[in-house]
Amino acid sequence: MTVTALHGFAADIGGTKTAVARIEAGRIVARDIAPTDCSLDLAGQLDRLARLLGAVGYAAGAPLGVAVAGLLSREGRWSAVNRATFPAISDAPLADALRARFGVASCLNDALAATLAEHRFGAGRGCRDFVYLTVSTGVGGGIVADGRLATGRRGLAGHFGFSSARAGRDACGSGRLGTVESVASGRAIEAAAAAHGAGLSPRDVFAAAAAGQHWAAAIIDRAAETMATLCADICAILDPERIALGGGVGAAPGFLSTVERFLAREPALFVADLKPAALGADAPLFGALASADGSSAP
Ligand code: ADP
Repeated sequence: MTVTALHGFAADIGGTKTAVARIEAGRIVARDIAPTDCSLDLAGQLDRLARLLGAVGYAAGAPLGVAVAGLLSREGRWSAVNRATFPAISDAPLADALRARFGVASCLNDALAATLAEHRFGAGRGCRDFVYLTVSTGVGGGIVADGRLATGRRGLAGHFGFSSARAGRDACGSGRLGTVESVASGRAIEAAAAAHGAGLSPRDVFAAAAAGQHWAAAIIDRAAETMATLCADICAILDPERIALGGGVGAAPGFLSTVERFLAREPALFVADLKPAALGADAPLFGALASADGSSAP
């Protein structure tokens, strides 16, 4: 399947925003975006989704793929990892509710949807074994093993941000102590920068590092070294042909090359083929629609 075969509608319900798109021949021809109301239950989320989809021309029965933040079990039941993100969503029957309401619809975790899209149409094309990593507000990702997207029993597969980091001390949103996410995420970079000025964003930290500020370079090095160690761990566990790095922080100027610098210190066996993700922030939308063709196998 090539990206030009994609026709239909896609949605991405994230922790901060909900995006919808109409896709024709692999191109987004209309889109709408609104803040996510995290307090809503499943029915409330689907009501809002229906209104947003209406704005991009959705008509019942058209192919629809929905990506969501949080865990989706094999049976399509949706739960938040961090209860503060979706307090009213716990073991909610998303797949059944989508089918009942919209007809031809499928759903996937947002990072897994991005993984599927990068594997089929982007940085992982042609790879039998592939890993996608996103360093954004949190750290996430997905695994394609032997050509298939791994979801795991509860949908936790590929949540690399919840694995351990050498430099980790604090808890992240999962409740685990000392995770990759607690060191390398945008949220963690922001927290580390607070000691050097009020309200500094990760973008400010990258700019300060580029301007020669040592404190800023140290924060980015710590995040990049953590991601490099994770890539080496991924080689040891999954041995993928390629790892693609995306997300707001992952795509920030100089981050990938800094990760590569630390990765080069590892024994050759653990030096992954690291590439920038190709599809940017729209990857979950493309992946969600690609999964609506009835199969999650790339
Ligand atoms: P989300 O987390 O909502 O999926 P993104 O992938 O855009 O969204 O990631 C957002 C994170 O990336 C935030 O922490 C933001 O501060 C950071 N970010 C976005 N753009 C840049 C940039 N140019 N340089 C550094 N950090 C960035």
